[in-house]
Amino acid sequence: MSQKYLIETFGCQMNVHDSERMAGLLEQAGYEPTDEAADADVIVINTCSVREHAEEKLYTRLGELRVLREETGHDPIVAVAGCVAQQEGEAILTRSREADLVVGTQAVRRLPMLVQQAAADRRPAIDLRPTEDVSFPLGVARRQDPVKAYVTIIEGCNDCCAFCVVPYTRGAERMRPRADIVAEVREAVAGGRKEVQLLGQIVNHYQAPDDPACDFAGLLEAVHEVPGLERIRFASPHPRHVSARLIEAVRDLPKVCKHLHLPVQSGSTRVLQAMRRRYSRESYLELVARIREAVPGIALSTDMIVGFPGESVADFEQTLSLTEAVGYHSMFSFKYSVRPRTLASRRMPDDVPEAEKTRRIVELQARQRDIQSALHARMVGQVVDVLVDAVSRRRPEDLSGRTSGNTVVNLTGPAAWIGRTLPVRIRRAGPNSLSGEALPAAAAARPSGAAAVGLTGSGAAPRL
Ligand code: SF4
Repeated sequence: MSQKYLIETFGCQMNVHDSERMAGLLEQAGYEPTDEAADADVIVINTCSVREHAEEKLYTRLGELRVLREETGHDPIVAVAGCVAQQEGEAILTRSREADLVVGTQAVRRLPMLVQQAAADRRPAIDLRPTEDVSFPLGVARRQDPVKAYVTIIEGCNDCCAFCVVPYTRGAERMRPRADIVAEVREAVAGGRKEVQLLGQIVNHYQAPDDPACDFAGLLEAVHEVPGLERIRFASPHPRHVSARLIEAVRDLPKVCKHLHLPVQSGSTRVLQAMRRRYSRESYLELVARIREAVPGIALSTDMIVGFPGESVADFEQTLSLTEAVGYHSMFSFKYSVRPRTLASRRMPDDVPEAEKTRRIVELQARQRDIQSALHARMVGQVVDVLVDAVSRRRPEDLSGRTSGNTVVNLTGPAAWIGRTLPVRIRRAGPNSLSGEALPAAAAARPSGAAAVGLTGSGAAPRL
């Protein structure tokens, strides 16, 4: 009987894609997937360390696996992978006897060999060695999503923002060759995917190692050429690397979604300087104006941190006013927490009291919710193109999809619509999603792969 594996994923899109890669590698080595820990011969916990409590989450899960082991006698190989593995290394094996293996972020490709070794030796092992080669064998990743495919273009980051642990867990920035990326996009499309999401810590810092003339805008042009691909998204660009060429590519390439995630982190220039973000409130707002002038209707989203060391009430007010001024379609907001090895952890006291951080995040999220509600309400009655990508999480009898601007739209229809881009009239709006109905003639007539892309109707984003 074949051996089984289970991968549990915590974290960002890159972690999700790493899990897809690990699944593919384990399947190549003869393992089969299972959803049950009690059934698995190998359990991989793929961790994220961007936010606080990530380590605690890991040890809680390891404790649960210990209970399972004690209660059932079942004794799988437990591997800890991802950013916490890279960051904590040996300390994981010291603190928990449940972990058999610690696999660093650049050791993913060695996972099957490490698992086999651990199963044979039954001795804890650790591999945090870097791998120079950023290419990944084509066709190995077991993609979970039938409609969208993640494609990594850059690994690591050299920016060292004061709050961020990523440069210490993912290593220095390494670019994948353009030819590898385009080949992977072709392969994903041949496997039925309609959308690709290009991933990198600073995705728009891309410079092809195999083509000196190809920057990120050039890569978008190359990916745009892939026949059968309908949508291109990317995450996350850094505001200071948004070039005129990139804005033109977003404007001119119909498959590139009219959505830009533009992480600002704070509305105060003083705090941005302390964060080492290398742009100011003013230059960020000027960039937003340039983007909106070039691409009217583009949806913007962002990341925001409240309670960074030294953030005063006045600084926080600037975050609120910038949030209002931009009118983001969505926002990921967090209370600052100390991350190991970062500049802030070494040099800046975590001096905003927890209760005040909570007050600020509650206020910011309430403000953002109002903004989203207003933006969404203005879409009622419009017709927008929706790429249907799944059965709705809330109502299994419904489907859900996304607009080019990345807003979730729920609609009723047959599962056969999954993977099709349909014109949908928006009927209702909430703060987090829209609902509507597919225009019947178009839904019936438009075959998969022939859908229009980009914004339709009067989809211009209102300015608040
Ligand atoms: S740009 Fe800054 S926030 Fe983004 S991954 Fe690099 S260090 Fe972290």
